[in-house]
Amino acid sequence: MLSSLRTPSIFSLGLVITALAFVSGGSTVVQTAVAQQSAPQKRPAAWYPRTEKLGPDEMFVVALGTGMPTPITRAQKSTAWYVELGNGDIFLFDVGSGSMENLFALRPEFHRVDKIFASHLHTDHVGDAAALWVGGWLSGRYTPLHIYGPSGSKPELGTAAFVEGLKKTYAWDISGRSGILPDAGGGLIAHEFDYKQDGGVVYERNGVKITSFPAVHVLDGAVSYRLDWNGLSFVFGGDSAPNKWFIERAKGADFVIHELFYTPKGLEQALGFPPRQAVIVSSYIHTPPSGFGKIMAEVKPRLAVGYHTIRQPELDLMMIEEVRKVYDGPLVIASILQREVVSADRVQAPPTTMEYKKAKRSGQASYSKYINDGKWKGYTPPPLPER
Ligand SMILES: [Zn+2]
Ligand SMILES: [Zn+2]
Repeated sequence: MLSSLRTPSIFSLGLVITALAFVSGGSTVVQTAVAQQSAPQKRPAAWYPRTEKLGPDEMFVVALGTGMPTPITRAQKSTAWYVELGNGDIFLFDVGSGSMENLFALRPEFHRVDKIFASHLHTDHVGDAAALWVGGWLSGRYTPLHIYGPSGSKPELGTAAFVEGLKKTYAWDISGRSGILPDAGGGLIAHEFDYKQDGGVVYERNGVKITSFPAVHVLDGAVSYRLDWNGLSFVFGGDSAPNKWFIERAKGADFVIHELFYTPKGLEQALGFPPRQAVIVSSYIHTPPSGFGKIMAEVKPRLAVGYHTIRQPELDLMMIEEVRKVYDGPLVIASILQREVVSADRVQAPPTTMEYKKAKRSGQASYSKYINDGKWKGYTPPPLPER
């Protein structure tokens, strides 16, 4: 299966692609770099969090999650992609349920992890947004978390409503932490854009341009993204049946991710769906392997990446066979081992910065006299340090 990654066609462009996988987390890490020298850069055989410095021209991509809303294997979380650029920017494309575990395993500098681009509002794509909002705030983020995402056919189905809903749902949580943690880090800001726009710019800063285009998935209001920076292009296809916008916008890009769903038979086998439901879900709401192969044959990326799978060897073979009937270019099914990431099951939190430690904290949670009087007199906490 590994031989399906045909590196010579990549090296001939004078570029280097290294792909690697999270052994424990079932995720894949792919690093795309514009080589400074003519020979491909030598990299260690294993990747250890916080041990390699990203080059100024490098794009570093990690699949934090590649799975389904049905976590039938502990080793695979729902969809989330971590993209770090040599200019210091970090972007998350989707934050599906469970994916925060793998984000923490990378031990990133959390004050830089402040932007989520949501493809659509299914739990397997945004289910950990609140976990990052709060977990990142506790781990070094002292500025708001920004969520970029599409509108829906009605206001209540859009990203802004989703974010307002999170704020209402977690009112108790956020009120209780505010003032003890940095004030601004508790902010959650929605950037909703028109889901219909085809190539509209949704983010442009620091030499990075991110555009969106529609996807065909269950309801209006699902999109895909393209990131362009420093001559490198990254395309993230959200859930979708094969669609014309993706073919056009992804054409010739360096790193192209598209969902690669099961065959209907695979779905019957993996999740016990009846045949009609299996065909609807795999081939009308999602893209089965034959569709994925056709898309990549048309798009011709430097590297094609499929995700949205349940990793089982039998299903992998079924998918590869279908894809290979129509696409013979470079291919990675996310979480196939390319380069081992050595990451502990239990990690130390990444260090916070002086800016985080000194950020303004204007208050402190308080409770009523009734609750205060419930404090046990037998225990005296240590005195509070000065602000
Ligand atoms: Zn999904
Ligand atoms: Zn979906």
